[in-house]
Amino acid sequence: MSTRTAVSHTVLSPVTEAPVAEVPSLTLEETDAAIERAHEAFASWRAVAPGERARLLRAFAAVVGDHVEELARLEVANSGHTIGNARWEAGNVRDCLNYYSAAPERLFGRQIPVPGGLDVTFYEPLGVVSVIVPWNFPMPIAGWGFAPALAAGNTVVLKPAELTPLTAIRLGELAREAGLPEGVLTVLPGKGSVVGQRFVTHPLVRKVAFTGSTEVGKQIMAGCADQVKRVTLELGGKSANIVFADTDVAAAAASAPGAVFDNAGQDCCARSRILVQRSVYDEFLGRLQEAVSALRVIDPGDEASEMGPLISAAQRDSVRRYVGEATVAFAGSCPSGPGYWHAPTVVESRRTDERVWREEVFGPVVAVMPFDDEDEAVALANDTEYGLSGSIFTDDLGRALRVARGVEAGNLSVNSHSSVRYWTPFGGYKQSGLGRELGPDAPQAFTEEKNVFLAH
Ligand code: NAP
Ligand code: MG
Repeated sequence: MSTRTAVSHTVLSPVTEAPVAEVPSLTLEETDAAIERAHEAFASWRAVAPGERARLLRAFAAVVGDHVEELARLEVANSGHTIGNARWEAGNVRDCLNYYSAAPERLFGRQIPVPGGLDVTFYEPLGVVSVIVPWNFPMPIAGWGFAPALAAGNTVVLKPAELTPLTAIRLGELAREAGLPEGVLTVLPGKGSVVGQRFVTHPLVRKVAFTGSTEVGKQIMAGCADQVKRVTLELGGKSANIVFADTDVAAAAASAPGAVFDNAGQDCCARSRILVQRSVYDEFLGRLQEAVSALRVIDPGDEASEMGPLISAAQRDSVRRYVGEATVAFAGSCPSGPGYWHAPTVVESRRTDERVWREEVFGPVVAVMPFDDEDEAVALANDTEYGLSGSIFTDDLGRALRVARGVEAGNLSVNSHSSVRYWTPFGGYKQSGLGRELGPDAPQAFTEEKNVFLAH
């Protein structure tokens, strides 16, 4: 394959299937040149006084804040996200920048008691760090990488997914508008096999922060081994929503669709397996059907829309194959005609070896299964290679704590489906990932800790 050929990618609307934009796919040479510019920019960016770096990040946050509506509309056009979600996503980038703008002035090292002198530690930036973003949450996942990385004094090269580059490109422009120097945050649209792969092999790139599929994540991790390159991975999930009979079954059923059908199920934290205690199984399923029927799967640009289409025809076809193999209990509605639509679908699983129970569908499909007691619920929840998130519905505080400690996943919520806040740590157990993003310690993940001893 010639990497010199100038190529481009036609961005299609998932709603109309019509072209939205033509975006260049960068070549290997263009990628190398951008990495070298980011390397040159690093020397001065790391030397910017902490208070000034903080001010620039707050200015960036403010400019993003001024463009929330524009960014949100762009995401609706590019990704088919509902306008309500897209506004939240743009606001999340603003808030994440504000949160980490406090980090440059608080990147404390330690003073450790030693005999014969003084021992201090420093958190030093790595250099050029890279962020590889998937197509499901183009704005938030970009911000979760670049905000703490920039705060810690690194320069950033960022590759959006080829399918969804528009908001990332715009965020790169807004960074310049806010006063970030050239080369500090560079957005490089293109193919994973070209631009993303170059982040892994280029010696000047000192870390890869990757979010995407477990399959590609494993390749990235193996590739990074060659240079002992720092790597964090945020990968797939098959999270369980565990509903005990002692809970408010109506409330649990009403909230379950949002936990799996939000973003049309294209969410690594989707609670795509629902475990329901057998004594309330039928009641839960009945109430779930009401909630799913009421879900407004309509044009995502409509203020009332609760779910839009899938990202691509390929994704929709993949989801259809899972549903074709499964025992469908019921489904909601979705528009016919153009667009990559798939109705929210509930399937019943009786065996844990069904594909729809084991694999990440990454679409609006949820599998439901009954269980008898707490031990069985935890065992079923843990019977997966993944371990990203999960929910527990119970009114018994002791049980809530036992099950929350028993489920092998990085992000659990009790009587709620929340999992990602920029100020709390986020990441996966087992094959859902490596390392943590967000939370108070995220900037440190983009540094080396240096120890210095000074003799008396
Ligand atoms: P993907 O195929 O793994 O792609 C993710 C990103 O990696 C894209 O930008 C892609 O570029 C790039 N890429 C592909 N091959 C590469 C390579 N060999 N070297 C370097 N970069 C490469 O995943 P996806 O299809 O975009 O997203 C869906 C998957 O991501 C799901 O499995 C989902 O669970 C997971 N995900 C996880 C999280 C999390 O936080 N844990 C969040 C979101 C998504 P292209 O533009 O060429 O595709
Ligand atoms: Mg892919």
